[in-house]
Amino acid sequence: MQSDFRDNSWENESFDWLRLLGRNLPIVIFLLVAFVGMGLTYWFFSPPEATAEMIANSSSSSLSAPFYKPIPAKPVLQRLAQSPGPIRIGLIAGHKGSDSGAVCADGLTEAEVNLNIAEKVAGALLAQGIHADILDEFDPRLSNYGGTAVISIHADSCTYVNDLATGYKVAPSSRTDSIQLQSCMEAAYAQATQLPYHANTITPHMTDYHAFRSLPDGVPAIIVETGFMNLDRTLLTTNADVPAAGILNGIQCFLDSTQ
Ligand SMILES: [Zn+2]
Repeated sequence: MQSDFRDNSWENESFDWLRLLGRNLPIVIFLLVAFVGMGLTYWFFSPPEATAEMIANSSSSSLSAPFYKPIPAKPVLQRLAQSPGPIRIGLIAGHKGSDSGAVCADGLTEAEVNLNIAEKVAGALLAQGIHADILDEFDPRLSNYGGTAVISIHADSCTYVNDLATGYKVAPSSRTDSIQLQSCMEAAYAQATQLPYHANTITPHMTDYHAFRSLPDGVPAIIVETGFMNLDRTLLTTNADVPAAGILNGIQCFLDSTQ
């Protein structure tokens, strides 16, 4: 009997609880919703763990914390394809604006030989839509010349030395890698003019050429000695179209190699 009584009392007790809950059902539901709502609110506004740690570490001296708003990465769409900078070739007409350079007995100057060839090259480049600047020997534009390449055009002495004083030579800038420009120019110039390569007269004056030092870094530059004004005179004057074509082809070869 005692056990029955106990069972009954337990049943009665739980029944009382259920009746109590049932009577107050709206309050019970309200409390449940309120707890779930608070939980969701806490979860929603909790920063990620790393950020929370950072805030905890930084808030020792201040009660304020930075507000982080995550922004999704957005791809940047370019409306136009990026075009390379315009090609610009600098042609130094050797000695122009400075002195005459080598002079022949009859008064022909290296400066006028150089300028004639430079103008022919510039004209041919412009005809192809390539911008070309004819520069003085000590042109003030050299120090900030943003060109694709600079070619300084010179010619060798008009004095008769011996029968070997014929041929051309090319020296590259030692400040900016100009080997590609040099090799293009050597091959194209030799092919156009059929002149021999006159390497044994390349002097420090050529390799440490003042214009190489004036030019900004990154502009390939060479100096071309187009020929000797004595033995190669006809080629450099009457037939100046030939050395001009050689230089033009050398520039073309270089531009093709950089694209
Ligand atoms: Zn010269």
